[in-house]
Amino acid sequence: MSDLLLNHLGGRWVAGTGSGSALADPVLGNELVRVDATGLDLAGGFTFAREQGGAALRALTYRQRGELLGAIVKVLQSHRDTYYEIATANSGTVKNDSAVDIDGAIYTLGTYATWGSVLGDRRSLVDGEAVPLAKDGAFQSQHVQVPVRGLALFINAFNFPAWGLWEKAAPALLSGVPVVVKPATATAWLTQRMVKDVVDAGVLPAGALSVVCGSSAGLLDALQPFDVLSFTGSADTAATIRRHPAVAERSVRVNIEADSINSALLLPGEAAGTPAFDALVKEVVREMTVKSGQKCTAIRRVFVPVALYEAAAEAISARLTKTTVGNPRNESVRMGALVNRAQMASVLEGLSYLKQQTEVLHDGAVHALVDADAAVACCVGPTLLGTKSPDAANRVHETEVFGPVATLVPYRDAEHALQLIRRGEGSLVASLYGSDDAALARTALELADSHGRVHVISPEAAAVHSGHGNVMPQSLHGGPGRAGGGEELGGLRALNFYHRRAALQAAPAVLQKL
Ligand code: NAP
Repeated sequence: MSDLLLNHLGGRWVAGTGSGSALADPVLGNELVRVDATGLDLAGGFTFAREQGGAALRALTYRQRGELLGAIVKVLQSHRDTYYEIATANSGTVKNDSAVDIDGAIYTLGTYATWGSVLGDRRSLVDGEAVPLAKDGAFQSQHVQVPVRGLALFINAFNFPAWGLWEKAAPALLSGVPVVVKPATATAWLTQRMVKDVVDAGVLPAGALSVVCGSSAGLLDALQPFDVLSFTGSADTAATIRRHPAVAERSVRVNIEADSINSALLLPGEAAGTPAFDALVKEVVREMTVKSGQKCTAIRRVFVPVALYEAAAEAISARLTKTTVGNPRNESVRMGALVNRAQMASVLEGLSYLKQQTEVLHDGAVHALVDADAAVACCVGPTLLGTKSPDAANRVHETEVFGPVATLVPYRDAEHALQLIRRGEGSLVASLYGSDDAALARTALELADSHGRVHVISPEAAAVHSGHGNVMPQSLHGGPGRAGGGEELGGLRALNFYHRRAALQAAPAVLQKL
C-alpha cells in the first residue's frame, strides 16, 4: 500500500485511523499516496489553532506578519522541484501548467509579503475618517478593523492545490488569522507537502497553519461564530455549505468561489485578421488548453459578430490542431490530463450534453495521445463547439464543462452580445477584444455588475496583458450570482474578510490614541 499522508492539527502530525483514500496518477494510473481524516480531534485541533496560533499571530504587527510570508516564500522556493514532481504525478499537468499553480502561489505570497510593510507596525486598521457625532466634534465615530478571533477554514477545489491554499492563506496570515486547510482529496498531496515543508521549517507560530486531508466530515460542525470559512468548488457543494448550521445559524462568515461560464467577446467592427481578432483567437486557445481547461476562470463562451463565425471557427481550430495531448513527462506534449476518471467522465458527459444543442467545430477526439495509453490516461483533446442559435441554446449559457471545451457564439449587435453574456448569471471574468478604446470602456462598465473582473485587450495591451484566466493578487477574484458571490484578493481588500469592522465612538483624544 502507498504511504498515508499525515494531517497537521493541534500543533502535531497525526494519522487518520481509517485505511484512507488513494490518490492516483491520472496518466499512468498508479496509486501515489493515501489520505485519511478519520478519528481526528477536530474540535480540539480547532481550539488549539484559535488559542495558540491566533494569539501568536495577533501579537505580531502587519509588517512582522508580512515577514513571515516572506519566510514562507523562501521555504517554498527551496522545495520547488519537488512540487513540480508532485504536480506532474498527481495532477497530470505539463510544466507550464504546474507553474500557473505553484509559481502563481509563490508570487501571490510574495506580493502580500511586501504589502505587510506598507501596513507597517500596527495591529489594527483604521477604516475611513472620524466623523462628528456631537457639536464641535467633541464626540466622534471612527471605524476600525481588527483581526477576527477565530480561525480561517479553507475548503479547496482540486484544480489549484498550491495557489488555492496560498492565495487565501497570504491575506489570512497577514491579517493575523490562523489557517486550517482541507484540500480536495484528488490532489491533496501538493497542499499537504507545502504545509509540511512550512511547518517543519518552523517559520510560523504553532497552530498558525494546519492541514486536514481526506473527508470533510465534521469540519463545519467544529466551526464557531468568529471563525471564517472560505470555500472553492462546485455550486452544488456550495449550496450544502450555505445550509449548514455553522453558516445558517452561527453566522460563520463565508466566502464562496464557485463555477462560472466565463466569456470572451470580440467587439463589433473588427475584421478577421485584425490584431483584436488574432488576440481573441490566441487567448481562447490558451484558455481552453492551460491545465486542460480545469480553471474556474477559463473561457467557456466565445462571442463574435455573426459575420465572423466561420473565420473565428477556422482560426481557433487551426491553432487547436497543433495542441499535442498526452503524458506531461514527454517534452513534446503541450496539454496533459484531467485530474481523474471521475472528472473525465464528467467532462465527456457535459460535452455530449452541450453537443445536443451545438455543432462540433474542432473535435478533441482527433488528438491521438502522445506517450499515454488511452485506456488508462485521463486525457481529453480540446473541443470547440459552436451554435448558430445562440438564443435557443440555453445549455451553452448554463453548463460549465470543467475541461478543454469552449463554444463559439455569434451575435447580431453589441446589445445582443451583452444579453447573451448575462445569461451566464454572474461570472468570474469576461475578456474584451477590440481597437476602439471608448467602446471597450463602455462595454467593460456594462459587464462590471455581473463579473468580478473584466479583462480588456486593446492593441496597446495585447503584448503585455496578464492573461484572461490568470488571477493576479492585485485584482479582485470572485463573481456574483452563480460564480458564488465571493470576493478574494484585490490587493489589501482581501484583508476585509479576515477582519471585523467596528465603530468606536469616543472623544477625539481617545481616538487619536488608536
Ligand atoms: P467540489 O466537488 O465541490 O469539491 C470542493 C471541495 O469541497 C473539496 O475539498 C471537497 O472535498 C469538499 N467537499 C465536498 N463535499 C463537501 C461537503 N458536503 N461539505 C464540505 N466540503 C465538501 O468541487 P471540485 O470538483 O473539487 O472543483 C471543481 C469546481 O470548482 C468547478 O466547478 C470549478 O469551477 C470550481 N472552482 C472554482 C474556483 C473559483 O475560484 N471560483 C476555483 C477553482 C475551482 P473532497 O475532495 O474530499 O470531496
